[in-house]
Amino acid sequence: MMIDVRKCNAEGKYTGTLDFEFEGDASLIDIPFVSFSTPVHAVLDYEIFEDNSVEVKGELSFTLEGACSRCLKPTKEHIVTEAEALFVPKGGKAEEEDYTYRNGIVDLGEFLRDTVLFALPSALFCAEGCSAPEYNEE
Ligand SMILES: [Zn+2]
Repeated sequence: MMIDVRKCNAEGKYTGTLDFEFEGDASLIDIPFVSFSTPVHAVLDYEIFEDNSVEVKGELSFTLEGACSRCLKPTKEHIVTEAEALFVPKGGKAEEEDYTYRNGIVDLGEFLRDTVLFALPSALFCAEGCSAPEYNEE
């Protein structure tokens, strides 16, 4: 997903909303027997400032499905996470946490990937405090 900053500027469209879905990268998930059961849904507002930096702010949501990390019972978890970033043109004044972009095109790929990765839990449980014995317990 891209934002064509030059085109937006040319058309005087300095703000907008993006609403789209993309396939979550399964290699980001570090929980055994768990995968994305839905595409990741993104709803993001963007604003292009006078210095051509672009603020992107919104929400990502997706569902994980698989085996409870403790008892292996099938389970699901719906995850909603806030997403926010500033994209600064290459050579502009970017802080360390900002993303940069070049040639007038903001590519959201890395930001989306980072946001999903940050939102992923380290385990999935069928219920709050699932207390079944560890599957591997001897
Ligand atoms: Zn469980």
